[in-house]
Amino acid sequence: MRPTDRSPVHDGGGRVTASAVAAPRRQPPQNGIAMITLTDETLRASFTNATRREVADLTLPAGFDDLDWASLDLLGWRDPKYARRAYVVVPVGDEVVGVVLQQGTAAPRSRAQCTWCQDVTLPNDVAFFSARRSGAAGRAGDTVGTLVCSDFQCSANVRVAPPVAYLGFDVEAAKASRVEALRERAAGFVGAVQNGV
Ligand SMILES: [Zn+2]
Repeated sequence: MRPTDRSPVHDGGGRVTASAVAAPRRQPPQNGIAMITLTDETLRASFTNATRREVADLTLPAGFDDLDWASLDLLGWRDPKYARRAYVVVPVGDEVVGVVLQQGTAAPRSRAQCTWCQDVTLPNDVAFFSARRSGAAGRAGDTVGTLVCSDFQCSANVRVAPPVAYLGFDVEAAKASRVEALRERAAGFVGAVQNGV
């Protein structure tokens, strides 16, 4: 791994740790964890691939002060000031990492599936987003792309109770496993932005 790949483009605060007592890890695992409550300051400091200008310019998500953080595996939103700009903040290992996204101009094919929640009864549109990679790779124009629910509805989608597939089917266990899978996939995307997997 090239050390420059892990350096944030901006130097306005670095990463935000999920727990003040968590031991620092050189290589955080890419497994997902629950979302933590963020403030304006900790949210802005979490970005891994944003310029200082982008971080300063970003519009906080609507209703930011009243978000139900416990129901979120990630926080994703669009910036009303910029037609194609969006952001996602994802717990990764013992920190949360923010990524600036740019929506692609081409609409995905119909019935495209969200890469993160993989909901098969998707109630919303899916959009193609690309993210500039962290550090030198991103400055050189390298990006990572993914198909995601257009307004990042993934956390709500995986919490919809699945139909009872057979007698004795454990609905709660199925839901928990979808939540876990969403967290892992979103954290995996952030890992690709940071490490160029
Ligand atoms: Zn989704």
